[in-house]
Amino acid sequence: MTPNSLAGQHAVVTGGGRGIGLAIAHRLASLGASLSLIGRDRARLYDAVQSLPDGTVCDAHVADVSSAADVAKAFASIAKAGHRVSILVNNAGIARSARLAATDDALWAETIGANLSGTFHCTRAALPALLEARAGRVVNVASTAGLVGYANVAAYVASKHGVVGLTRALALELASSGVTVNAVCPGYADTDIVREAVASIAARTGRSEADARTALASRNPQKRLIAPVEVASAVAWLCLPESRSVNGQTIVIDGGETAS
Ligand code: NDP
Repeated sequence: MTPNSLAGQHAVVTGGGRGIGLAIAHRLASLGASLSLIGRDRARLYDAVQSLPDGTVCDAHVADVSSAADVAKAFASIAKAGHRVSILVNNAGIARSARLAATDDALWAETIGANLSGTFHCTRAALPALLEARAGRVVNVASTAGLVGYANVAAYVASKHGVVGLTRALALELASSGVTVNAVCPGYADTDIVREAVASIAARTGRSEADARTALASRNPQKRLIAPVEVASAVAWLCLPESRSVNGQTIVIDGGETAS
C-alpha cells in the first residue's frame, strides 16, 4: 500500500447508486480502488457504474441490506467475481419523519432494518475478507442524528445512535487485527433524503419548499447544506493506509451544528 492511494483495494459501497454513496464511489475510484456497489434499484446502480471514470473496475449487486439473505447472496457473488473486499462503506439508509405516536411497526422496522441491521448484515458478511486484508476498513455513514436527538424522527435517531454504538464496539473488538471501524456523521446534506424531507415539511406545514429548505440549511451555522463530496472526502481519508490509527471515531461533518 502507498500512503495516499487505494490502488489494489476493493471497496463495497452500499447505497452507491446515488447521493452520498455515489460521491463516495467516485472518490474511492479516483484513488484507485475497484468497487462493488450495492443497492435496491438496478437501473440506478447501472447508471452509477457508467458514471465512474473510464477504467474503473466496478460491478453492481441488487440487494436490500435489511435482508440478511440478500446481503449474503451479494457478498457471495462479489467473492465469486474474484474480489477480495478490503473496504466496506455502510452508507445505505433511509430517513422517514414521524412523531412517535405515528411511528407504526412498519416504519420502525424499515428504518432500523435499513440503517442499523443493514450495517450489521454487511459488516458480518464482509468480516472474513476484511480480516484477511489485515488493514481492512469499515466506514459507517451515520449522522449527527447518531450523536444528538432531533424531534419527530425517533426511529431514525435510534437507528443512527445504534450505528455509532456498533462502530465503537467493533472498533475495539477488531483493534488488534489491523481493521479500523469508524463513522462519519453528516448534518443535512444536499441529496434525495433532504429533498424528500423538504417536500414533506412543505406539505405538512403549508410553507414553500424554498422556506423549508432554508430552515433545514439554517441548522448548520454555515447556513448551507453539506455537499455529498464533503462526506466522500472524509470517508476516503479514513480508508487510506495513513489513517490506520484513527479507530472507533465519529467524524462530524456539519459546519459546526453540534459544536455547542
Ligand atoms: P439518498 O436517499 O440519496 O440515498 C440513499 C441510498 O441508500 C440509495 O442509494 C438507496 O438505494 C440506498 N438504500 C436505502 N435503503 C436501502 C436498503 N434497504 N437496501 C439497499 N440500499 C438501500 O440519501 P443520502 O445519500 O443522503 O443518504 C446516504 C446515507 O447518508 C444514509 O445512511 C443517510 O442516513 C446518511 N445521511 C444523510 C444525510 C442527509 O442529510 N442527506 C445526513 C446524515 C446522514 P436505492 O437507490 O436502490 O433506493
